[in-house]
Parts: sequence; structure tokens; C-alpha cells
Amino acid sequence: MDLLQLQGKNIVVMGVANERSIAWGIAKRLFDVGANVIFTYRKERSKGKIEKLLANYSEHTTAIVECDVNSDESIKKAFQEIGETFQVIHGIVHSVAFANAEDLHNRFVETTRDGYAFAQDTSAYSLIAVAKAAKPYLAEGSSIVTMSYLGAERVLEGYNVMGVAKAALEASMRYLAADIGADNIRVNAISAGAIRTLAAKGVPSFNQILHKIEETAPLKRNTNQEEVADMTIVMLSHLSRGVTGETIYIDSGYHIMG
Ligand code: NAD
Repeated sequence: MDLLQLQGKNIVVMGVANERSIAWGIAKRLFDVGANVIFTYRKERSKGKIEKLLANYSEHTTAIVECDVNSDESIKKAFQEIGETFQVIHGIVHSVAFANAEDLHNRFVETTRDGYAFAQDTSAYSLIAVAKAAKPYLAEGSSIVTMSYLGAERVLEGYNVMGVAKAALEASMRYLAADIGADNIRVNAISAGAIRTLAAKGVPSFNQILHKIEETAPLKRNTNQEEVADMTIVMLSHLSRGVTGETIYIDSGYHIMG
């Protein structure tokens, strides 16, 4: 019995920078369950990395499309190209975020207007822009999943402007879910625990966070790319068809602790 119903489905995965990316973990699992994976990238360097990673997956249907989420034009062009090539999209993984390094290192009170707007634009508004551009091609029953972090609701050292952006991302996810739910499209967030990736390198005190989670979380360990990928697969699949507007924590239970 095909419980997931992801075989042959067209899933857009945004945010693979290298093999450590959360999005790459998800893409690998999507290949495992027989989905077609369409990658989007911002920098040529990421495109090269994706092409290399795909060398071992030559038997799978893929495409690699440029998409800079800071540009409406780029997003529109990307989804038009994907829509014209694949006709229909069954799922989107939005695994994209960015903030200026100084806004993570400086005191929060020093956050600049530009830095605030940039983090919001890249990390929160992009979800809405992507949903809008993809909407004409999204199948009935399709699912959008975005990646959030506990910094959305708690003050975490060094997360600063990105925490505010993640709060906006989670709220945007709920408003989108309420809006496009009538078209039978679901929108959810995964709140992943700390994982060593390129983006995580930019967060000061990341190593301390990893240690703290290991000591405090109910499971006494950190999560990893595979665990986050598995739950994302569930959220993209038929198994989660009754769930929308939800933030799901894959963090060894860390968020429940005082
Ligand atoms: P990553 O650096 O591998 O991925 C971030 C991706 O965002 C990169 O591929 C980058 O190219 C892309 N990106 C940035 N600006 C972009 C733009 N303007 N247009 C298109 N793409 C752009 O790091 P990751 O940890 O895999 O991050 C993926 C998501 O997971 C992010 O939203 C991040 O905040 C979230 N997250 C990460 C952790 C963690 O500890 N690593 C925890 C919770 C949530």
C-alpha cells in the first residue's frame, strides 16, 4: 500500500547549497520514495554543487532552475518554467533564509532598518511570494512546507533579526494556510533543531546551543538532517492530509523544556 502517495509527484525543493543543507536531506528522501525533484538555486556555485550531488541520482527525474527569492521577477520566471515543463506541482519545500552577518553579531538594539527588511524579505515574505507564483500550477491536495526555528518564539542568543523573521514566517504560514486551504492546498512549518549547516555557521554561539540541547532535550541528543527530512516527507505526503497551519518540532523535544 502506497501510504505516502509521493511516487511520480513533482516536488520543488528550494535551498540546497551543499550536501549539509536541510533541503538536500529532504531531496534524497524524495528520491527514495519515487518523487520527481525540481531544485531551485540562487548562486551559480549552488547550481554546481547540486549538479555534483545529483551525479549519483541520474535515474531520477530532476531539473535545476534559478530562483532568487529577493526578486519577484526571478520567482515568477522560475515557477513559469517549472509549470511549463512539469505542468503540475504537488509540493514545495521552502528551505531558504538569510540575514546580514552584522545583524546576528551586533546587539539586537543596533538592528538597522535595511537589515530588518532584508531578513524579512528573504526569510519570511519569500514564502508568500513563492506560494503566489506557484499557485497556478499547484495541484489539488498539494502541500507547502517551510523551515522555521525556535528563535521564532524564544529569545535565542545570536539569532536576533532572524528570530523576528521566523516569527513572521510562521505567522505568514498560518495566514497562507487559511487562505489557500479552500483550494485544498496545505501549508505547514517544520521547526528544526540546531543542525550544522552553512546557514548555521552564521549564528554566533551555535556550538553552545548544540551542547545545551544535548544536555536539556528529552531525547538528550541533537536532531539531524535525516530526522528533519523524514518528517518533511510526512508533511508533503497523503499521511498528513488533515494537517495545515501547523508548526511541527523536530528537535528531540527541546522546545518543551523550561
Ligand atoms: P543552508 O545554508 O544549507 O540553506 C539555506 C539556503 O538559503 C541556501 O541554499 C541559500 O542559497 C538559500 N538562500 C539564501 N538567500 C536566498 C535567496 N535570496 N534566494 C534563494 N535562495 C536563497 O542552511 P540550512 O540550515 O539547510 O537552512 C535551510 C532552512 O532551514 C533555513 O530557513 C534555516 O533558517 C532553517 N533552519 C535551519 C536550522 C539549522 O540549525 N541549520 C534550524 C532550523 C531552521
